[in-house]
Order: sequence, then C-alpha cells, then structure tokens
Amino acid sequence: MSNPLYDTLLGHQTTNSSVFLHLPDGGQISYAGFTARVAQFSGALRELGLEPGDRLALQVEKCADALALVFGCIQAGIVFLPLNTGYTGDEIAYFVENSGARVLVCDPADARLLGEVAARCGAHCETLGPDGAGTLAERADAAPEEAPVEPRASDDIAAFLYTSGTTGRSKGAMLSQDNLLSNALTLVDLWRFTRDDVLLHALPIFHTHGLFVATNVMLAAGGAMVFFPKLDTDALIDWMPRATSLMGVPTFYTRLLDNPRFGVEVAGDMRLFISGSAPLLAETHRQFEARTGHRILERYGMTETNMSTSNPYDGDRRAGTVGQPLPGVEAKVCDEAGTELPRGEIGMLEVRGPNVFQGYWQMPEKTAAELRENGFFITGDLAQMSEDGYVTIVGRVKDLIISGGFNIYPKEIEELLDDQPGVLESAVVGVPHPDFGETPVAVIVPEPGQTPDLDAIDAEVTAKLARFKHPRHMEVIDALPRNTMGKVQKAALRERFAGLFS
Ligand code: ATP
Ligand code: MG
Repeated sequence: MSNPLYDTLLGHQTTNSSVFLHLPDGGQISYAGFTARVAQFSGALRELGLEPGDRLALQVEKCADALALVFGCIQAGIVFLPLNTGYTGDEIAYFVENSGARVLVCDPADARLLGEVAARCGAHCETLGPDGAGTLAERADAAPEEAPVEPRASDDIAAFLYTSGTTGRSKGAMLSQDNLLSNALTLVDLWRFTRDDVLLHALPIFHTHGLFVATNVMLAAGGAMVFFPKLDTDALIDWMPRATSLMGVPTFYTRLLDNPRFGVEVAGDMRLFISGSAPLLAETHRQFEARTGHRILERYGMTETNMSTSNPYDGDRRAGTVGQPLPGVEAKVCDEAGTELPRGEIGMLEVRGPNVFQGYWQMPEKTAAELRENGFFITGDLAQMSEDGYVTIVGRVKDLIISGGFNIYPKEIEELLDDQPGVLESAVVGVPHPDFGETPVAVIVPEPGQTPDLDAIDAEVTAKLARFKHPRHMEVIDALPRNTMGKVQKAALRERFAGLFS
C-alpha cells in the first residue's frame, strides 16, 4: 500500500535539487532538502510515540519548519490540525479538546501558557519557532533524513481543518487524502502551473488557501514559492519581477493598488493573479486591469470543499463572478429541499465531487444537516448561476435579512452604497426590530480624506430601492471589521447594533 498524498507531492523529490522555497533572509530550500526535513519531523513524531491516525494540533508562526512539520505528519500518517496564530489559550483548549489531539505544537514564546492548556486537555506540548528553535525542532535535528512512509488509503483522513468561525463556532472539517490530492491536481491543470512557476506566497498556512491551494498546487507542479512571513506589499513588489504568480485574498489586491510603486513595470511579466477567500469587488478587478493589464482570476472555495469553482485560465474571467464548477465538481443553485432552481434565480449553492469533505469531526447532526445522502454539500452560501454556468456569490444564508416577511440580500444594498461619491466600501446587516422582526443597518467606510454625505446617500437609496430595503440607520466607520483572511465579521457588526431598536 502507498501513501498517495505523500507519494504524489513529495515522495519522488528526494534527489531533486531545484528550489522549493525562497526564504525572507535570502536563503533557499531545495526539494531534496525539504523532503529530508519532512522525514526528520516524521521520525521525531514517531519517536514521541504518535501513531498513524493520532491527532496533532499546531499553532506556530509561518516558516519552512512549520510546513515541514505538516508534511512530516502526512508521511507518518498523523492527522494534523493547523490553528490560526491569533487564537488565545482558551480557544486553543477548545480545538485540542474537540480534536482529541495527543500533541500540541506551539511557539516557544507561548510554551508556559499553552503547556498548561495542553496538560489540562491531556495532551503533550512541544515547541517550534521560526528561527529553528524549540523542542520539536531539536528532536527533528537529531532524527535521520530518511523515514518510512506510512501506508494510507485514499479515503483516510489527512487533516482536520477548522473553519474560520465567521458564522459561529469553528467546525473541524475532516479532509481525506484524496480530497486534498484530487483538488491540487485539478488546479495545477486548470491554472497551468509548471516547474517553471515561482509563486509569491504571503498567505497564512493555517487556512485552506495558503496551505492546501497554494502549497499543494506548487508541490504537485514542482515549482517554487517565495515564502513571506506575512503580507508586506513592498516586499511583494520587490520580488514580483522574479516571480510568475500570486495567490491572494482581496485585501492583497487593494493594498497593491494603494501602493504607488505598483504598476505594469513590476507586474507586466507575471503570468497569473488569483483571488479568493472573500469577495473581490468588481471595481478592484477593473482597477487592477487598468493598472497592470492583468485580469485577476477569481475562484471560490471553503474549508469543507477545498476549491469548487474558478474563472477560466483562457476565456472570459468575469468580474464579480467566481467562475464555473471545476472539472469533476458539480455545483447547483437550489431551494431548501435541494431541487435545482431555474438559472438566474438566487438560492442555496450545493456542491458535489471528490473535493467534498468527509464530515465534521464529532458533529454527526451538523454533518447530516449539511451533507446530503446523495453527496451534495450545502455550502451555506447564496448564489446565482448564469445560463453558461458562471456562479455569482450573493452572500451567506446566515446574513440574509428577513424584514416583515421579505428577503433582503445585503449585497444589493452594499453595491448601491459602494457606488456613492466618497464611499470606499460598506456592509449591511440585519438587526432585531420590534415591528419588522429584522431591519437593515448600514456601515459605510469613506474613501481616504472624504466625508460621504449621508443625506444624499439616503436620497439615492430612496430613489433606487424598495422601501423595505432602506437601511433604518447608517453610520460612517473607519474600517470594516475583518479577520486575517479578509472576511468581513458581520456577526461583530450585528452585535454592535443589536440594541438599536429595542
Ligand atoms: P465558518 O464556516 O466557521 O462560519 P467561514 O465559512 O468563513 O467560517 P472558510 O471555510 O474559511 O470559513 O470560508 C469559506 C467561505 O468564504 C465561503 O463559504 C464563502 O462565503 C467565502 N468565500 C470564499 N471564496 C469566496 C469568493 N471568491 N467570493 C465570495 N465569497 C467567498
Ligand atoms: Mg463556512
């Protein structure tokens, strides 16, 4: 038996001297060097007594060793759960307890706090720092550069990836070897990645975008990544002339456009710019094309499904849409019963394919509610599909506002607000109202140095939208609350305005 994920992404690279990682300090790690480090971590974990199928939680800074630890888990058949570096001790306790992790790996600076957390949850604590320090790094240093590859079946679980927690408590999505591998191979093909590619990697590696999309795709293609610890637009721009591609969240693109150094001289020779994880404004898409001549390729996915749709490499990259279902993936817009709606109507997006996860860890009811017996996963996103199969994400079902029995899609109001003079962006949420049940409230972020005229905006809203859609309250704020993946935290806004009408 083999270990398909390890064998396909790394197993054949042990003597490949080409560069896999360019590091911030100017150093490089070859495929052979990375594979050897992976084997050392794999050996160190087995030395610690971890068995195939055991869980390991990691909350570590982004660095080459952190990535080698993840692949060491894959080689040893250990299920890993990468955790957001922003999580606090209490939050970490939930993940360790929920997953039943036997080992928690954390930054040396957090060893005391998280050591106690681990002990409380019956787990053992190890440390790993970005500078090669830490107890687990030392164990790896002492381990041989070759290690046995643990046999795994395609449907064995490779990782628990916890969702971002945008709409409620994070859920552990169980992803099989084949969920990850099939998606990586499909994307390499679709986006034409080869060993000649150099990807600018400035995403975190605790989320599907930076870990599975970016890293697995590059490993499968045999290309290189410039591994930035975090987003620094000047550093991105410095590297861009030597790179071929970038994967980013929409914030990457708005920040690049805000930088006066960014233009066609720097970006002209790039091959591909990809965006996802949160909606890219059609306006950003247009500005980017005007500045660089490149049309950003937007795709859509989620923790539970990896990637599901993408705009095409050749052909029409349609601003404001997330493209068509990936080869081998089915997507449909449905009513609540799962019956497909006529094209153009708004409904729930459901997807099916080898990318769809195996269920939520220890949440059988939630799994049963969202994963249909026929294999379709109810994404929780509202969408529209065009006659030619392009999907437009309208928002989340949970953000839908129901006011006096009428459905209100926040996006429709947000798009109108965004078009008003002096408005950079906006967010609309539903808050409790004694008469209507819920009513829309809008927050508006001004363009730098501008003061939007709320009365004029109100007049425009009155002219353009039916009365029940008018925000009952509008407020100007400095910035929308966003998490590290650029997602707007609507729950925080709802909480902030919860008492407005009661
Ligand atoms: P939780 O499920 O815990 O509430 P989350 O859904 O934010 O958190 P993720 O799996 O990280 O966790 O995010 C997936 C969601 O991100 C999708 O359901 C969708 O709402 C959004 N998303 C991803 N890509 C895009 C895109 N290109 N355009 C619009 N929305 C996107
Ligand atoms: Mg979700």
